[in-house]
Amino acid sequence: MPRRRNISKSRFCVGLQCLRRLWWEVHEPDAPELNPDGRLQAIFDRGHRVGELARERFAVGTLIDFEPWKVTERLEATAAALRDGANVVFEASFAARGVFAALDVLERQRRGWGLVEVKATLDVKDQFLPDVAVQLYAARASGVDVRRAELMHLNRDCAYPNLDNLFVREDVTNDVEELIPAIPGQVRNMRATLDGKLPEIEPGAQCSSPYDCPFAQRCHPELPEHHVSTLYRLHAKRLAEFIGAGIETIHELPEDVRLSDVAARQVRAVKAGELVVENGLADALAAIEYPAAFLDFESINPAVPVWNGCHPYETVPVQVSCHVAGARGRAEHYEHLAEDADDPRPLLAEAVVRACGNTRTVVAYNAGFEARCLEHLAEVVPKLKKPLRTIRGRLVDLLPIVRDHVYHPAFHGGFGLKAVLPALVPALSYDDLEIADGDAASTALEALILAPDSITAPERRTLRKQLLAYCERDTLALVKLTERLRQMTT
Ligand code: SF4
Repeated sequence: MPRRRNISKSRFCVGLQCLRRLWWEVHEPDAPELNPDGRLQAIFDRGHRVGELARERFAVGTLIDFEPWKVTERLEATAAALRDGANVVFEASFAARGVFAALDVLERQRRGWGLVEVKATLDVKDQFLPDVAVQLYAARASGVDVRRAELMHLNRDCAYPNLDNLFVREDVTNDVEELIPAIPGQVRNMRATLDGKLPEIEPGAQCSSPYDCPFAQRCHPELPEHHVSTLYRLHAKRLAEFIGAGIETIHELPEDVRLSDVAARQVRAVKAGELVVENGLADALAAIEYPAAFLDFESINPAVPVWNGCHPYETVPVQVSCHVAGARGRAEHYEHLAEDADDPRPLLAEAVVRACGNTRTVVAYNAGFEARCLEHLAEVVPKLKKPLRTIRGRLVDLLPIVRDHVYHPAFHGGFGLKAVLPALVPALSYDDLEIADGDAASTALEALILAPDSITAPERRTLRKQLLAYCERDTLALVKLTERLRQMTT
């Protein structure tokens, strides 16, 4: 008879999402899909940092300080802390009725105990409730009289430098109590699944909700090129109709199918196997007057704000690249990247005004982001408010110009710069860069600026070079893309 295993609270939540995923996570704990990439690791690290800050909000507590796999030691230390009259226990651990759970905070109350789950988010999300419920279940089953359950999360109203209200606590006891009766059956089902063969479960909504499943590639068959699901902004219901009618690729769509203008252009391009350019492209490009600045910001969103007036997760621009080009001549390059953890915004604002101040148009791709960055800088650097707002007023967004006039089959339904550039300007790619997308840049920037001691000086120099190269490539891409679009009009 195989040893029955306890289900940890995180695996319990995985099992609620999909039993097949749970089976793989338990039977293949070393699966490559379970290795966190840089972005996921940064999210984990952020969660740990926020958890440590949350602990400081409590009176002195006893920390159950053993590695996660030292279950017996954790259980014994928890029992000892409770026996010794601790009022607050961090990482209190319980195993009962097939479940193991470590609680972020167990707090003695006037009557009974309260548990607090800390989340590095700005809101309570539905998917947090089963996580709290299974903790309540395990603690109660271990004989602890837990009467209240709370979620403690970051407070979007908190503004640096006053971090007294960094967290808010929300009572979720009633929501969680409703989930408790189902837990014994759910645990039985998960344990039975784990004792059997890999369950056959069809891919569906559970593959991305509430979290993206790391095993998606194992379950989802590779789709043929130009699958109907790549149609621009196709509604799920419409996709189901196409699939139900046996239509698998864009090539198979009937001639009279009703679609948006953009999707219809996509279909024409894919069926013809060639670039489609609409007549209005020249008029749209006329909005770009020279000298023109081609602008791109990179930003970070620290969970815990570090500069004046900033809120948790507020987007703060910390790097800029700008190519300034005349109608024909060579583009001149400007750039700025924060040096250290001092507030980078005044110097960044100066760099932007220096680069863009004398230009007639400021071109960005998906320019809403650049508009928000410019407004953010205008708010916090009052002496440059006027020129920054003037620059914002000159913004021209290249993305809708492309989306509404051009389609190349290699876009594959996307209009992001990383989809459009290789198709239209194949000589210019991101393949030679170490940092090649915005998420990676943001993660690297946060390490470089806010945790410089976590990396060595040579690593910092390398990271700076990589970040500067990435941001420069973004704005050079805008220059070249605009040139290419102009060629299409002649
Ligand atoms: S991809 Fe979907 S079906 Fe496959 S294990 Fe993940 S959630 Fe389950």
